Amino acid sequence: MYPQIEINLSAIEENARKVVNLGKSNGVNIAGITKGVCGDTEVAKIMISSGIKILGDSRIDNIKKMQNAGIKAKYMLIREPMPSECEDVVKFSDYSINAEIETLRKLSFWAKKWGKVHKVIIIIDVGDRREGILPSQLELFLEKAENIEGIEIVGVATNVGCFGGVLPTYENQSLLVEMARKTEKILKKNLEIISTGGTVVLQLVQQEKFPEGINQIRVGEAILLGTSTTDDRVIPWLRQDTFTIKAEVIEVQRKPSLPEGPRGLSATGHKLHFENRGIRKRAIVALGTQDVEVHGLQPKDPGIEVLGGSSDHLVLDVGNSEIDVGDVISFSLRRPFQYITMLRAMSSPYVEKKYVR
Ligand SMILES: *Cc1c(COP(=O)(O)O)cnc(C)c1O
Repeated sequence: MYPQIEINLSAIEENARKVVNLGKSNGVNIAGITKGVCGDTEVAKIMISSGIKILGDSRIDNIKKMQNAGIKAKYMLIREPMPSECEDVVKFSDYSINAEIETLRKLSFWAKKWGKVHKVIIIIDVGDRREGILPSQLELFLEKAENIEGIEIVGVATNVGCFGGVLPTYENQSLLVEMARKTEKILKKNLEIISTGGTVVLQLVQQEKFPEGINQIRVGEAILLGTSTTDDRVIPWLRQDTFTIKAEVIEVQRKPSLPEGPRGLSATGHKLHFENRGIRKRAIVALGTQDVEVHGLQPKDPGIEVLGGSSDHLVLDVGNSEIDVGDVISFSLRRPFQYITMLRAMSSPYVEKKYVR
């Protein structure tokens, strides 16, 4: 039962609808990105009922899970396939993003074997320096990819805000459009998908600095959390009460606030700093870095403060709050660690997933 992550499906639904509507009024489709919740099928269903038609995930296992649950959508693998998983990619995903010719050849092999045509989106690095070919490589890449059988190049994409923390600008987004036009010219056909992401791009749309020509934005965080980590902000027109972490108190004791004895690093490899506040009432909660990111927890009770944690223990200063062993403490997610905390809790087999509406 505990620790637990409570998932508020109606809050997520409200966010999904609002993001879809923002897209609609700008002529852009929203691809719902499910990797932050490990392809959770209840969340995926909510995205679909909110008007999302394409679901994207970075893991083929998550896509398989959603497919097997019978969730009707188009699926897009948004991490470049591992060469060893190309058979599953062809079988379970309608689209995948790619930047390696060798991987395209593997996809081709399995597509032909299964009598399919796998749809490929070329990923282009416009500055974040994570995945993708450089714009200067496009022509050469297309020359090699164009005639590979069993795959069809249906789109181009870019990604910002994930590795280099690069923010979207009118210029880097226009570069994607320029690459799309160039691709269309070389392939002598119109592209089905011209895709950007993630959440941080929504800001550009709202500021009306979003160039014409992009027809898809891949959005996870805004829908799931109502926040944007890259520019560290709450998105004011979305809900942030989508996830609550709950865990049980296993010890309450009064203790000096300073550790005693020679000191090394913490269990998580960090240097620690303690403030001397004298003797304090403290609670230990059965929750740790195996389940959450400790810095991503905000106790709902304002009288409680997180002091730190190790893999299985979370130490709280509970002030004068009436806390007893066996009580359940609730936490909301704290910026800027909200995404990693959600991801960790959703990934941990020790954390119970509870759905509320
Ligand atoms: C994670 C990811 C997204 C979604 O990003 P959010 O900031 O969660 O909206 C989009 N595209 C790619 C390639 C990703 O890896």
